[in-house]
Amino acid sequence: MKVPLARPDITDADVEAVAAALRSGRLGLGPRAEAFERAVARRVGRRHGVAVNSGTSGLHLLVRALGLRPGDEVVTPSFSFVASANCLLYEGLRPVFADIEPHALGLDPAAVAARLTPRTRALLVVDVFGHPARLDELRALADRHGLAVIEDACEALGSCWLGIPCGGGRWADGAVFAFYANKQITTGEGGVVVTDADGVADACRSWRNQGRAGGGRDPAHVDLGYNYRLDEMSAALGVSQLGRLDDLLRARARVFAAYGQRLARLDGVAAPAADPRADVAWFVYVVRLDPRLDRDAVARRLAAEGVETRPYFVPIHRQPLYVARGLAPRDLEVTERVAAQVLALPFHPALDDAALDHVCDALARAIAREDGRARG
Ligand SMILES: *Cc1c(COP(=O)(O)O)cnc(C)c1O
Repeated sequence: MKVPLARPDITDADVEAVAAALRSGRLGLGPRAEAFERAVARRVGRRHGVAVNSGTSGLHLLVRALGLRPGDEVVTPSFSFVASANCLLYEGLRPVFADIEPHALGLDPAAVAARLTPRTRALLVVDVFGHPARLDELRALADRHGLAVIEDACEALGSCWLGIPCGGGRWADGAVFAFYANKQITTGEGGVVVTDADGVADACRSWRNQGRAGGGRDPAHVDLGYNYRLDEMSAALGVSQLGRLDDLLRARARVFAAYGQRLARLDGVAAPAADPRADVAWFVYVVRLDPRLDRDAVARRLAAEGVETRPYFVPIHRQPLYVARGLAPRDLEVTERVAAQVLALPFHPALDDAALDHVCDALARAIAREDGRARG
């Protein structure tokens, strides 16, 4: 049995929505992208949504909208997808990596405080695997020091911290959601920036459409912009998928609970768990293996049984680009420890009991064999 890591959930209604966009004759700069960005903003209680062609584009625009100067420092986690730090490099900013807390794997507020210098201008926080970071503490810390907050909520559409949505106005000056095929909802490729600040939204609208004036609508190019526009087929898929978000999240929650029951009996594996202050729309299912086990060997055994897994994340400060640029601190103890133990298992809304049984049985066999090997 082959079990892929992720699979988009595409219905006939999704297909019909994309076909309708194609038949409309309007494939770009159209009403579907506007409807999608409005709907995403409404979902998280924001005044503005700006649809873009990827989460990375959205992060770039939002970082640029902060108006920071080259060399300014932004404190951010290394335990994340590379885009959350690359967007700082695009603008000549310095990512300063701070350690994470060991349970939900978000930025540790105490570790962040220890990284602040007179050059720190902002925090870029990440809701890892869909689990909110300690958004209240991080926002309060930023406020005490006059720092902006950007929330990379690319993995967290539908999650809440203290009952308030990730990406919501309480937590950050702006936030970004992403819609690659493995996220909670997909547009194929795509993202939405959300903010309450008119100026930030206007700038993002202008820059996504080649720096045109008037929030991207006028013919004159007043700024150096980009083509970060979301096309109408992608936006149509997004509108259709967003209408099913709660169903999709329920299906993910069912798979999450089913994994938890099966893995509770298995020695050597720690299942993910939500902080009681969080409602988590899980993006991936990442277990932690006991340090006695060789994670990569377990992954190879699973692959041999058709189970796709991933060591998720390889920390950003370990990526050759960041090492070469001298941006790799040596004291990220929790990040290093966690990164050696994590393994993402197959996770998507349609994962059925047979596939779950196969994954968990294969994992049990892999661990038993690794234990046997360790004992010689
Ligand atoms: C998915 C994701 C992004 C954006 O990815 P794109 O592929 O550009 O849409 C950014 N940050 C994190 C943490 C992500 O998981």
